[in-house]
Amino acid sequence: MSSIRILSDRVVNQIAAGEVIERPAAVVKELVENSLDAGATRIEVEYRSGGRAYIRVEDNGSGMIRDEALLSLERHATSKIAETADLDRLATFGFRGEALPSIASVARFELQTLGAGETAGTEILINGGKFVHVRDCGRPAGTRIVVSQLFNSVPARRKFLKSDPTESAHIIHCVRLYALSCPQAAFTLIEDGRVVFRSPECRTTAERVAEIFGRQIADAMLPVEAADAGLELRGLISRPGVGRATRHEMITYVNRRPVDSRTLSYALIESYHELLPKGRYPLAFLFLELDPAAVDVNVHPAKREVRFRNESQVRAFVIRAVLERLRELGAAARPVAPATGGDAFRPAAPAVFAAAAAQPESRMAAPFPAYRAPPAMPPPAVPAPGVLPAALDAAGGEAPRVNTGWRYVGLAHGVYALFETEAGVVLLDRRAAHERIWYERLRGEFAAARVSTQRLLLPVPVELDAITTALLLERLEFLQGNGFEIVEFGRNFFRVEGVPSWMDPSDAEPFLRDLLGALREGRLSGKNLDLARDELARLAALRAVRLPGCAGGTEMDSLVSQLFSCRQPLTNPAGAPTFVELSHSELTRRFQK
Ligand code: ADP
Ligand code: MG
Repeated sequence: MSSIRILSDRVVNQIAAGEVIERPAAVVKELVENSLDAGATRIEVEYRSGGRAYIRVEDNGSGMIRDEALLSLERHATSKIAETADLDRLATFGFRGEALPSIASVARFELQTLGAGETAGTEILINGGKFVHVRDCGRPAGTRIVVSQLFNSVPARRKFLKSDPTESAHIIHCVRLYALSCPQAAFTLIEDGRVVFRSPECRTTAERVAEIFGRQIADAMLPVEAADAGLELRGLISRPGVGRATRHEMITYVNRRPVDSRTLSYALIESYHELLPKGRYPLAFLFLELDPAAVDVNVHPAKREVRFRNESQVRAFVIRAVLERLRELGAAARPVAPATGGDAFRPAAPAVFAAAAAQPESRMAAPFPAYRAPPAMPPPAVPAPGVLPAALDAAGGEAPRVNTGWRYVGLAHGVYALFETEAGVVLLDRRAAHERIWYERLRGEFAAARVSTQRLLLPVPVELDAITTALLLERLEFLQGNGFEIVEFGRNFFRVEGVPSWMDPSDAEPFLRDLLGALREGRLSGKNLDLARDELARLAALRAVRLPGCAGGTEMDSLVSQLFSCRQPLTNPAGAPTFVELSHSELTRRFQK
């Protein structure tokens, strides 16, 4: 047996780096937090190759005198807390004293800093945890840290890094989070020599949102502010009718620290419960302030998660605050025009918002009459002949009759079709069934690469942020090959000029946003083209289906017949059941016969 020993500092730091520094964005996070903790009002972040080659964070904060600078690289060296009780009155982002030594142990790390009262700056170079030199350098007040060749001393970690655009997206997201948290500091973010955003000092969060997310998003948001029993909430929430397919744009902070808090995100989702259909999420930039003693930030080494001492109080407070704000809006605005449905960004015209507030995109509030049968769905075959590949037309128009033995009885709520079957009764979800049929049809169309495009009379402008822009640019060619015409016409601005011919033009923008959500979650990755096309068809099918208010027996029979010609008739493309069957014995049991 080998003898027991105490690990060297270098090894300990590399192990800690495994927890704290999982990717380049984590380096950026730690360095930006340090700059903010040092009181910086100007922070510049630059990186190359997704951060793996080079990261520079430079600030005009307090800087460090030489002894402090040397000490800052020792493990557990921090100027921010002295005893455990300090955790209960924490006013800084950092407190563990781990970041700098961890980063320096897994990269080439160069620090230049000038502390108060010093004339010469200090430069320290460490490579893979090995001290190289300390010497004088010229520099203005503040600190500049350059981290290059990340993970050079731990090749195993390099392998876990994703593509440059993905790592880059994480960095951009991270810097935006802190830029939002501290609008009073000016931020510049530079990727491979190109400015991703440059935001001067801002007075408000709303101004900062406009600076770094764009006007379109800023205009889609409502300010919210509330205080009660030591809890304070402020920030921006999306107007009713504006939704997203993912939770990425619900951004929450606790005492200025960006956090992933289930309590906060569920409170938000719940507040919008009646305003957004299932699977859609609001946008939010929410800042919760509370006594640091009432929240534990030391749950996770990277401090992304927090735990509240009183979860239910926080949750109830947030729901109340958000709901009150949304209700105020609803009460102030009388409906002036029928809502168009969908969750396209609506411009900030009050009249339009009033309509949206009164009748949001909810598929629960006023779902059925608004739906149209999906184009190309018989009986009315909408698309011009030749628009769908012939094979699909045939499958759609004259589906071989499948004898299911189901006898149509009637339609409840416009959605649930009741059938009598040999085994008992069946309740069919019309919408889910149409989605399945439509999905299989589109998938075939995409796979055959025979998607034709309809040019939009009015191209739809879409403003994106830097991350989604990067993602979209990466997949632009793929989309163009599949019926979309999207052109870039300015930094972070795109114009949808054409959509697949079966798509309703009013779906162009919401669909694009759904698509971006999927891209962000890596569901449309470039690796497997078939899977990417399937995902595209899935998204399109879930969005495209509109149901007419009523339907007759012939239509229902034809629907069932088409459903059972599908490869997977049992579920819709999202995996939800298309029908449920109650057997005779189940019915007998229920009625206690
Ligand atoms: P923590 O932030 O948890 O204290 P770090 O390892 O991130 O630990 O930093 C160690 C110490 O180095 C900090 O407590 C701070 O005193 C000093 N420091 C780090 N970055 C800066 C900076 N940009 N400006 C001034 N001081 C800094
Ligand atoms: Mg720190």
